Amino acid sequence: MIEKRDFYINGAWVAPAVSNDFQVINPSTEEPCAVISLGSEADTNAAVAAAKAALPGWMATPVAERIALVEKLIEIYQSRGEDLAQAMSLEMGAPIDMSRSQQVGAGTWHLKNFIRAAKAFQFERPLGDHAPNDRIIYEAVGVAALITPWNWPMNQVTLKVGAAAIAGCTMVLKPSEQSPLNAMIFAEMMDEAGFPPGVFNLVNGDGVGVGSQLSSHPDIDMVSFTGSTRAGTAISKAAADTLKKVHLELGGKGANVIFADADDKAVKRGVLHMMNNTGQSCNAPSRMLVQRPIYDQAVETAAEVASKVTVGNALDEGRHIGPVVNELQWSKIQDLIQKGIDEGARLVAGGTGRPEGLNKGYYVRPTVFADANNQMTIAREEIFGPVLTMIPFDTEEEAIEIANDTPYGLTNYVQTQDAARANRMARALRSGMVEMNGQSRSAGSPFGGMKQSGNGREGGVWGLEDFLEVKAVGGWAAE
Ligand code: NAD
Repeated sequence: MIEKRDFYINGAWVAPAVSNDFQVINPSTEEPCAVISLGSEADTNAAVAAAKAALPGWMATPVAERIALVEKLIEIYQSRGEDLAQAMSLEMGAPIDMSRSQQVGAGTWHLKNFIRAAKAFQFERPLGDHAPNDRIIYEAVGVAALITPWNWPMNQVTLKVGAAAIAGCTMVLKPSEQSPLNAMIFAEMMDEAGFPPGVFNLVNGDGVGVGSQLSSHPDIDMVSFTGSTRAGTAISKAAADTLKKVHLELGGKGANVIFADADDKAVKRGVLHMMNNTGQSCNAPSRMLVQRPIYDQAVETAAEVASKVTVGNALDEGRHIGPVVNELQWSKIQDLIQKGIDEGARLVAGGTGRPEGLNKGYYVRPTVFADANNQMTIAREEIFGPVLTMIPFDTEEEAIEIANDTPYGLTNYVQTQDAARANRMARALRSGMVEMNGQSRSAGSPFGGMKQSGNGREGGVWGLEDFLEVKAVGGWAAE
């Protein structure tokens, strides 16, 4: 059993002020795999105080030096990729090959994108030729609380820490208590890279404890949060009294609009995308909208593809999907699958219960519902499991209406070989991101949502700007 009870505060690993053990469960086996501590208010305060004390020095550190430290971090990150991959597979159930390539790979990608963005970013710039004595200065927001989820743990940690560090913010990271081990390895890397004490701090804890203490703390200037819409609302309320900036990356219920002229692989690609990470992605294409002329064929294909998706232990190599993260999520997904059946959607693959041969572990059957409508619970709620909901449509206008009829607005997907229609759709869909014909967004493109999917933009130059204040100076003197 791994025992990792300490927190990383002010450049050192320190014991919690009050002991409060928490077991991390391996979702592949349902057995405890590690013990951590949940922090108390005294731990939160110590971390915030360290970050506050380190802020003036870090803000005054030249950007080039901050960038150099992140470059050092990338080297260390790459050398410890296997440790991170093993930790994530163990604690949140991503299959090990996928952990190595996607979960770990995402971190390197984001950190490198920040370096490129920062090197081109003018932290001080003139207002314009018309105003020679004006300057615009981009400076750190201040002390940032970074609250992250378990589903893409390193993706989220690097998106927040990388941007905050380069922007000149000091920070307190509270990773998800469901997946703390990878974040603690990351803290070791920050230490090894040589970030000054207090710039980066990590306190483990749950939402009601350290999470809400950080969100309401008077010395925290901003909260960058990724997780559920429920927690995002709670954080926004807790932060309101001190009027801190709150950046939210929340849930989604993405539509994947497949027109009759889509390429042959569109349906298969959509199903596999849905199943990736066992459906636990906020940008999952969870509603597949298919144009009527190809609908029956699409349902057949989707059922066949889903029934061939294998499920297994996260620590086994191979192309299977793993378990979902914990018992709570497993039960929630079971209830939603049952609701789909009860409300009259047609189950064409999977269903309730565990996949055959798997009696222990939080495994879910890759599931496809056909003939759903957009008012059904499985079309409205984020299921966060390997469950696809298929809805037929006739016209482009109808597809847009269905796609946009959701409280969420994170990522929508379009499949058509008609270029003009694809671009019309990209403009009409109300979401922070649109991906078309299987093409994902490129390096440095911003990640974030509209409506109840949140308000922040992470990654690249927009990710940096989230951690920066704009200061306008008049009467700037020629030196
Ligand atoms: P969660 O919201 O319960 O937890 C996320 C983090 O917030 C954890 O660190 C948790 O301890 C903390 N937290 C929970 N309640 C809190 C509170 N009241 N105050 C402060 N902190 C609190 O979500 P989860 O179960 O970890 O993740 C699943 C959800 O997250 C899904 O709905 C998913 O869509 C969403 N998500 C969104 C994105 C995105 O980028 N948009 C990414 C990943 C996950």
